[in-house]
Amino acid sequence: MSDILVVGAGITGLTLAWALQEQGHRVRVLEARPEAGGNIRSLHAERYLVDLGPNSLLDRGGEGLTRLIDVLNLEDRVVVANPAASRRYVSRGGRVQALPAGPGSFIRTPLFSLRAKLRLLGEPWRGRAEADESVADFVRRRLGPEFLDWAVDPFISGVYAGDARKLSVRAATARIYALEAEAGSLIRGALRRARQGRATGPTPRGRLIGFREGLCELTDALAARLDGALFVGTPVNGLRRLAGNWVADTAQGPVEAERLVLAVPAHAAADLLEPFKRELAGELRGISYPGVVNVALGFPRESVGHALDGFGLLIPSREGCETLGVLFSSTLFPGRAPAGHVLLTAFVGGARNSDAPARDDASLIAGVVEDLTPLLGLSGAPDFARVTRWPRAIPQYNLGHLERLERIDAALTELPGLTLVGNWRGGIAVGDCINNALALAKRMEGDDE
Ligand SMILES: Cc1cc2nc3c(=O)[nH]c(=O)nc-3n(C[C@H](O)[C@H](O)[C@H](O)COP(=O)(O)OP(=O)(O)OC[C@H]3O[C@@H](n4cnc5c(N)ncnc54)[C@H](O)[C@@H]3O)c2cc1C
Repeated sequence: MSDILVVGAGITGLTLAWALQEQGHRVRVLEARPEAGGNIRSLHAERYLVDLGPNSLLDRGGEGLTRLIDVLNLEDRVVVANPAASRRYVSRGGRVQALPAGPGSFIRTPLFSLRAKLRLLGEPWRGRAEADESVADFVRRRLGPEFLDWAVDPFISGVYAGDARKLSVRAATARIYALEAEAGSLIRGALRRARQGRATGPTPRGRLIGFREGLCELTDALAARLDGALFVGTPVNGLRRLAGNWVADTAQGPVEAERLVLAVPAHAAADLLEPFKRELAGELRGISYPGVVNVALGFPRESVGHALDGFGLLIPSREGCETLGVLFSSTLFPGRAPAGHVLLTAFVGGARNSDAPARDDASLIAGVVEDLTPLLGLSGAPDFARVTRWPRAIPQYNLGHLERLERIDAALTELPGLTLVGNWRGGIAVGDCINNALALAKRMEGDDE
């Protein structure tokens, strides 16, 4: 059994360390911040409960997240999203419209013109692109420009805080790209999958979940399992090699191990690896992380005209607002706001407005309130507001990302005993991070045999 050092105690590093420990390895985890969890942070303030980073997780069933909930005995801490969350709103021309959820509502929705709807009928006969293309080019080619502007662009802002013109369809939206790759068409591919699902029995579509006291319940439970092996408030300031081992230098002293896993953001890995391989550090630094700001606002219920009967509202970039979207947090999960009040969680910034974190609280709050007032019928100022800055929030899987990953892998072969893992490859959703960490633990087990 190896002696393994994991740097970074976000969901990736925690899951990996827990799985390696279960496999019988000696594991130590070093985390720079005073607590574990990384991007997963929950705050109780003024009787509101706010998830400051991720807000909800997709539990697909049968994957890593399901397994963690089970082994950590967290099922009774899980809160499943209100069924109303299947309704998602988008604004077009300042009017709030529900995104169509089926063929009937698609035909009736005023979100897309008749021309755009008719164009969709030709989708199965459109050819494929030879090379990788941007998400924007892919959607324009297959579905037409209106689907890009009023459905995919806001979806990309909501998930990646990204720019559809820059993101690679193969890297960033691999599940959607796979429909074209497998069936030559998104519609045909979706129908085929539905048919296969029916043939193999009911396939659970997954559930959208949170935790009673916020998502940090998940990372706190993992951290508790690592008792004695997790060292918070311990930033790694530099790395060295010593007789084939890796040594991490910290203010508390050096930590030596046979194997090292960096479960940190790509730019943090770049800083640590610069002295070993400059080209590798350059590749890692080339992955951009635009800034995002979470603006949580509490209002008395009667100060919000909208029914808030959904997951939230996405605001397409063509609407010219600085707010990317807003979650109806107190609709989504119970216990998010005091009685008679609602919690809205808005996001500002992203790839198209990356300097948002540099602005002061007052201007960010005022900007969100100004954007949302006409859309949600706000009257009066919020009675609770909390601004959380994520100066480098989410890695962008831009065009060329897959080739960049190949170059990173090639460079890593020259640094034995070192592995990199994190949300900059294999998916940014918390569920993807968990799956990737568990898969890595399995591969490391294999390496040992
Ligand atoms: C605002 C926001 C909203 C999001 N919303 C959702 C959502 O609703 N649903 C969803 O599924 N996903 C969401 N995500 C994405 C998801 O939260 C992340 O992809 C995931 O949490 C990343 O986990 P990670 O462990 O890979 O990285 P991180 O969480 O970044 O953890 C890396 C850790 O490494 C530590 N570290 C860095 N450098 C060092 C060093 N030198 N020494 C020691 N430690 C170091 C850091 O302090 C950090 O704790 C969101 C992300 C953000 C920012």
